[in-house]
Amino acid sequence: MATSVKPHSEAAHLPHSPEKETPFDQFNYPIPKEFPSEGMSARAAHAIVQSECWTDANPMLNLSSFVTTFTEPEAREIFASGSFRNFADPDMYPHTKDTEFVCVRWLHSLWNGPKDAEPYGAATIGSSEACMLGGLAHKWNWREARQKAGKDASRPNMVTGGNVQIVWKKFLRYFDVEPRIVPLKPGNYRLTAEYLDKYVDENTICVVAIAGQTFTGEDDDIQEIHDWLDAYEKKTGVSIPMHIDGASGGFVNPFLDPDYKWDFRLPRVQSINASGHKYGLVPPGLGWIIFRDRKVFNENLVFYVNYLGGEAPTATLNFSKSSATILVQYYAFLRLGREGYTRIMRHALEHAQYLRDRLTKNGKFQIMNKTQRIPVVALTLDKSVTRYNEFDISNKVRERGWILAAYSMPPDAQEINSLRIVVRPHLNRTVVEILADDIERACEFLEMHGGNATPPKLHDSHKTSVAKC
Ligand SMILES: *Cc1c(COP(=O)(O)O)cnc(C)c1O
Repeated sequence: MATSVKPHSEAAHLPHSPEKETPFDQFNYPIPKEFPSEGMSARAAHAIVQSECWTDANPMLNLSSFVTTFTEPEAREIFASGSFRNFADPDMYPHTKDTEFVCVRWLHSLWNGPKDAEPYGAATIGSSEACMLGGLAHKWNWREARQKAGKDASRPNMVTGGNVQIVWKKFLRYFDVEPRIVPLKPGNYRLTAEYLDKYVDENTICVVAIAGQTFTGEDDDIQEIHDWLDAYEKKTGVSIPMHIDGASGGFVNPFLDPDYKWDFRLPRVQSINASGHKYGLVPPGLGWIIFRDRKVFNENLVFYVNYLGGEAPTATLNFSKSSATILVQYYAFLRLGREGYTRIMRHALEHAQYLRDRLTKNGKFQIMNKTQRIPVVALTLDKSVTRYNEFDISNKVRERGWILAAYSMPPDAQEINSLRIVVRPHLNRTVVEILADDIERACEFLEMHGGNATPPKLHDSHKTSVAKC
């Protein structure tokens, strides 16, 4: 039984004292099967941990993910210094806590929140926690209004499109809200107002529309949905709020298309989430939920605690956490400003457009995103390509280090496969050209030799594909 580092045969060659360790001994410590009974030198532990990750993907080439993989040294320094300050302790770290509110206020104004409103929101661990908080606020508000009116409040539902990210399905299941998911169809991968009349009713807590969806990068038809809900209210007297899932679009639309109304300029938009760690340019672990006004966040969701000293309100799903990502977001806003984010996003979008043009030029690929807002290229192979599929291409370019997501679309567009490239700002033109060359070469190879990949089987309980995010 390997309960310590000793019994392994190689352990015999290891020095008896850490001081005698050679530079290569550090790689040779065997890893115990059970909880280690003794420790080892810091160098050896460090080497083991690092070596475990050697064959993992290179995050810089992982273009299946939206998550930031580059920050400046100054941001890293802030990240390191912030990581030991518990963000749940505003009494001890009041000025760290203040940076969250500054960011909330800035995002509220970036997303055109009404000037006379009281900005309210929170830093979260990613958009997932932010979406849960948005959904909960709408559920609580809906229930309160129903109870006040003496109506049944036992069957809340939420309406959204089949293109939603998995977090909304989690929210619906974890918090017992009936899913009303408008299916996609081949050729249309976004939520529009077309079928809303079959899904929306007086028990709808909110309609969730996406700015920068996971599958094709497109926006739902936010304005059309908004106007449809206005007309619905006129007809029925039932007023339904909208939540915008701006995980990606929240940090792109304001910079690349400031006149486009996807945000609080639409009165029905009561809450917006975004991922600080996607196009917000912060390392993984940060999201934002911003409410149109303080009163949208139901007071019954707020708890007051006094056990860290002082009395502090808390209304997030997590409690203790590092302050690192929030401070880096504050840094990024100051460092870049609108001008900096605009320039960065414009470059990324130009690179996406370059890839899109290059890869569709010879007729092998069709583009899936009709509009190009966030820098994502979603491709599907043309029907004339029969010897290989999107999964084959993803596998083939992996030999060159690239990670590109290949997946089948959610219901009812499952027969369509997609190859998706998330163009993040750290990619320069040279790298993007190399990627295009590598994809073209992979296709030539596969045309000659044929592919054999089959789309992975989907888990029954979900019956929907989950694009990585
Ligand atoms: C990424 C993503 C999420 C989930 O966000 P995390 O920040 O990964 O928790 C939700 N919705 C959309 C549209 C996304 O792209």
